Amino acid sequence: MQWENLTAKDFPGAVKKAKGVCVMALGCIEKHGEHLPVGSDMFAALHLAREAAKLEPAVVFPPYYFTQIQEAKHQPGTLAVSQEVMWKLLLECCEEISRNGMKKIILLNSHGGNNYFLPYFVQMMLEKQRDYVVYCPPLAGYRGEEMVQEAVTDKKFKKGKKQPDMHGGHKETAIHLATIPNLVKMQDIVPERGRDLNRMGSLSEVMTPVFWYARFPHHYAGDARPATAQAGEMILEMRIRAVARIIKEVKADTVAPRLMKEFYAKTRHKFF
Ligand SMILES: [Zn+2]
Repeated sequence: MQWENLTAKDFPGAVKKAKGVCVMALGCIEKHGEHLPVGSDMFAALHLAREAAKLEPAVVFPPYYFTQIQEAKHQPGTLAVSQEVMWKLLLECCEEISRNGMKKIILLNSHGGNNYFLPYFVQMMLEKQRDYVVYCPPLAGYRGEEMVQEAVTDKKFKKGKKQPDMHGGHKETAIHLATIPNLVKMQDIVPERGRDLNRMGSLSEVMTPVFWYARFPHHYAGDARPATAQAGEMILEMRIRAVARIIKEVKADTVAPRLMKEFYAKTRHKFF
């Protein structure tokens, strides 16, 4: 069910099997500590999408990585396109998915830098009438229940150490050890670079464009050293199940398409 692996002849059958659901795995190309490949987020999102689609059929969009990552431009290998390109490309891809018969699009994001961009993108879908719905689950596709389970699993592998675990940290690294071990360079980890520098601590709760840079200029946040492939596999199992559940729910959803139609009809202000 990977879009790019299908023949044109088989494509309509896949759309039917997916009941018109397409999953866009959204990553980016940016530094992930000294030890993970710059494509880490893209690999993670694609793995989740492809494995979940095996449990609950959906067409998985080809690898996509032109999303929001201005904050890593000072690091080698980053691909940070302008907001106009980023916006237009995602929108046009959604239009193309719809033109190919899929009217439900799941934006499966695995990059924290998209946490502001994607909800805004989804909200702006109301700008004009569309014949499709975009669905945006939380980061990496997992929700409350899975997060609790994951925290329990996580504890087992943290060996009692208290440390932040974000970008390139032990959880993310564990996932990559389980999926792309040949691309992970544990020997290159520089532990002190994962510390929160908190350089804007005097401005509590205020966001500035350099909020991330002020904390983690090395694009590494946490401590990857306790990561194991075994932990990665356990985390993945939970996340894949969670994403499969989201696909199932989206497939069954009749409310969002109906309400969108109703909403657009009302915006025409027939009451004047
Ligand atoms: Zn990222």
